[in-house]
Amino acid sequence: MSPLLEAVDLHRHYSVRTGGGLFAGKAVLRAVDGVSFRIRAGQTLGLVGESGCGKSTTGKLALGLIPPSSGEMRYDGERMPAAGSPAWRALRRRLQMVYQDPLGALDRRLPIGTQIAEPLVIHGIGAVSERRDRALSIMESVGLQRHQFGRYPHELSGGQRQRVVLARALITEPRLLVCDEPISALDVSIQAQVVNLLLDLQERLGIAYLFISHDLRIVRQVSHDVAVMYLGRIVERGDAENVFARPAHPYTRALVSAIPTVGDKRERILLGGDPPSPANVPPGCSFHTRCPFATAQCRSEIPTLQPQDDGREVACHRVRETALRLVA
Ligand code: SF4
Repeated sequence: MSPLLEAVDLHRHYSVRTGGGLFAGKAVLRAVDGVSFRIRAGQTLGLVGESGCGKSTTGKLALGLIPPSSGEMRYDGERMPAAGSPAWRALRRRLQMVYQDPLGALDRRLPIGTQIAEPLVIHGIGAVSERRDRALSIMESVGLQRHQFGRYPHELSGGQRQRVVLARALITEPRLLVCDEPISALDVSIQAQVVNLLLDLQERLGIAYLFISHDLRIVRQVSHDVAVMYLGRIVERGDAENVFARPAHPYTRALVSAIPTVGDKRERILLGGDPPSPANVPPGCSFHTRCPFATAQCRSEIPTLQPQDDGREVACHRVRETALRLVA
């Protein structure tokens, strides 16, 4: 089956200033550095990694909100039109975004019903009365009450506000949602409700998700496939259940070993320090400065994603040796 959304060798680089005064200079910040992935209709790709690894930039590239420095996004096999073009605006109703902070994503001065119906106005869909009906209907499908139509964001709980954000994203009947840390601003008790809602919506409406999160526990719960990012590159990707059960890349192993319910019986791999700056990516394998298995080859040669026997792909020179040693 051909993918609904496909990223092909995406790069997004920025020119940044470094130092100051006499020592001022310029550097290239490699926010996304050669990322490829596929998302099938009705499926979820989880995108994980530490903060600053390029996940959110990848999410914006996926929707065409920012242009890639090189590479391309494809929707239904076609190259995504340039941002702002009529073709891109028409496509946007099928590709929506759910942000981390529901309060920040909503206008505090407008009733939630008006905000939920707003995308219909933007895309010129339906008459005024139809828009109200569709907004009320979509409110019900995400678990909001019809009488809340005229409420303002500050009158709702955090979980209800995220339902408003979801309703607004869903009203144009998208085929794919990019969910960027959609539950991390919510109380733990509300997180499960929103995750269940996302799963339910996927089952009922066949929506695909690019689910971006640093919370591997949740990503495991919602994803069919998973991609692990480090310093702008994907270092491991494959079937989510496989990757979480038997992580192969040392970075994935460290992340998974830190999940309490999954890693209890497994050797815990502690990562030293923070990731290097994406404006100063180490040569060779960019993870070598924190990897307990690094060799001279790792410090000079960039590993590329290589297919493994179970279908996953891993970018590590020593994956066979280290995986054997650690899986046991
Ligand atoms: Fe570690 Fe080397 Fe593999 Fe990079 S290539 S993850 S440094 S063993």
